[in-house]
Amino acid sequence: MSYTVLVFVKQVPDTQNITGDAMKADGTVNRAALPAIFNPEDLNALELALELKDRFGAKVIVGTMGPPNAAEVLRASLYRGADKCVLLTDRSFAGADTLATSYALSCCAKKLGKFDLVLCGRQAIDGDTAQVGPQLAEKLDIPQLAYIEDVIELSKKKITVKRSIEGGYEVLESPTPALLTVVDSNEPRPAAARRMMKYKKARTITELNKEHNNADYTDSEALAVEQEKLEASDLLIHEWSAAYVGADIERIGLKGSPTKVKQIQSVILTAGDAKQIEPTDKGVNDLIHELIEDHTLG
Ligand SMILES: Cc1cc2nc3c(=O)[nH]c(=O)nc-3n(C[C@H](O)[C@H](O)[C@H](O)COP(=O)(O)OP(=O)(O)OC[C@H]3O[C@@H](n4cnc5c(N)ncnc54)[C@H](O)[C@@H]3O)c2cc1C
Repeated sequence: MSYTVLVFVKQVPDTQNITGDAMKADGTVNRAALPAIFNPEDLNALELALELKDRFGAKVIVGTMGPPNAAEVLRASLYRGADKCVLLTDRSFAGADTLATSYALSCCAKKLGKFDLVLCGRQAIDGDTAQVGPQLAEKLDIPQLAYIEDVIELSKKKITVKRSIEGGYEVLESPTPALLTVVDSNEPRPAAARRMMKYKKARTITELNKEHNNADYTDSEALAVEQEKLEASDLLIHEWSAAYVGADIERIGLKGSPTKVKQIQSVILTAGDAKQIEPTDKGVNDLIHELIEDHTLG
């Protein structure tokens, strides 16, 4: 019995190092200005998928929507044990909010065909909304189980999981296919040296193109041969466009995003910011009014 487990991972700007040019004028993140890292809880989601592969036998397929250099998180996934990777990349995906992101990922999942489980991290450290997982489940019309620590049992028909709740955990059961959002509850395995030796040569077509400095490489025989060689040796990172996954152009990227990020900035609280509050009703009321006025509340 083998399972197909999709894992969606995100390459995120390292928000520990926000610099002045972190934002573009149109309110989107200037990803080139910030070091890019593997979203931490997506490493936990990948680890859970690889544990399911070890325990039940599974094919682990990792997908990400991002710019061409997001292929880095896919190579990092191959180093740890992923079987196949897909980079969903296209200028028309840029500036997507969670609605547009989850729609694009749902098109990718449908293009990948039959699956038993979809795993996402609980939250990305840049947008911090924790919305994409549940939204993706809605669009795939499958049950969602959020804040998952571990899988207790898995069969072709149902799954039993351990869900993290305040002060402990609860055990949930659900029919499959289902979507899980995974919390920081396991020790992600390190990249395996043997796999790194092999998969450091894994490439997308765009990377292959760049390496061969051939502007119009896509039509050349040579590219097709290279692509076949990569595919035959399991080293091709599939690169899918909006058109290839059949995405409606009105529902992706900035066009498909009702939410626009106005501004982001680092908030570094200094001692001067501390304020003594009278422990009275009036003191607390004044504080609430102040917080509403400066839009911290409401
Ligand atoms: C500071 C900031 C604030 C933002 N605020 C909002 C907002 O309020 N509302 C809004 O709609 N958008 C917002 N965005 C845009 C939002 O970041 C993007 O839409 C993003 O692609 C998904 O949202 P998220 O980062 O919150 O991810 P989350 O919903 O926190 O991600 C949860 C999980 O979904 C999966 N996932 C998320 N993005 C991808 C991807 N590109 N590829 C593969 N898997 C993925 C991962 O498994 C991830 O762990 C904000 C962006 C920034 C930088």
